[in-house]
Amino acid sequence: MSDTVPSLYRGRFAPSPTGRLHAGSLVAALGSWLLARHHDGTWLVRVDDLDPPREVPGVAQQQLATLAAFGLVSDEPVIWQSKRHDAYADALARLLDDGSAFECRCSRSDLAAVGGIHRTCVASDRTRPPAVRLRVPDGTRIAFHDGLQGEVVQDVDREVGDVVLRRADGYWAYQLAVVVDDAAQGITDIVRGADLLDSTPRQILLQRALGVPTPQYLHLPLIVDAQGEKLSKSMAALPIDDDAPLPALRAAWEVLGQPPGATAGLSTVDAVLQAMTREFRPDRLPKVSSVTFAAAHNKGVAGAV
Ligand code: GLU
Repeated sequence: MSDTVPSLYRGRFAPSPTGRLHAGSLVAALGSWLLARHHDGTWLVRVDDLDPPREVPGVAQQQLATLAAFGLVSDEPVIWQSKRHDAYADALARLLDDGSAFECRCSRSDLAAVGGIHRTCVASDRTRPPAVRLRVPDGTRIAFHDGLQGEVVQDVDREVGDVVLRRADGYWAYQLAVVVDDAAQGITDIVRGADLLDSTPRQILLQRALGVPTPQYLHLPLIVDAQGEKLSKSMAALPIDDDAPLPALRAAWEVLGQPPGATAGLSTVDAVLQAMTREFRPDRLPKVSSVTFAAAHNKGVAGAV
């Protein structure tokens, strides 16, 4: 990178405060941070706190404290999605105005009766409060190139159906909020866990409907337990230890396919992150969609079970 031209790369890590950060979250946080540093870019942290029923009070602050203990600090002030209702309301109003979105009163059981995918409204109770959905026309196929997983194609109409943007209970859907905020924050590169690979085509569709740019995507391998379950859903999802960041940082580094020797002999978080920034090579990232928890755990990511 040139010394004079500022890099336009803007990445982010956007945890939902539904539980403390675990080994899988750390891999996504460190991976997105390393790629941003590698490109001389800006790295942001955003708190995706839009789903109060699933959130645990105080966890967002704990997550930020954990990131700080690991030396991973946002280059700009942290944005909280819970303070961004107006931006989501504006976007939704535009989509409703131009006919891209519509109100829908279908319940889960209405949809279960037609295969679970919304193609047309089949609501049995037309008095219930409506959700708002993005209309996905028949034959909508989205293809994109993922920086690690390669070509991804999804028939969004058949595989996903009309996408919920605001839920019937009034809460904003993650899909709308993530697209609005990534655009507002000028994010150029989204690096996150492969559990969100499947959500990307609908986010691209929504970007097009809103007329905002589509960022580059890179989905890191997901850490799963021996049964192939996503770590956050597993009993084994122990939080990482803020008081002992180095073993977990080193383990996440190895999960990211980088050479273990790179940080040998270093004993502070700053020194370790500096060495990682120097030694990191994106072409070593593992081109797989998951890594088992056992393999990660043996390297000490999640502490003792
Ligand atoms: N907040 C989402 C989560 O924790 C991730 C958002 C994203 O990276 O797009 O699963």
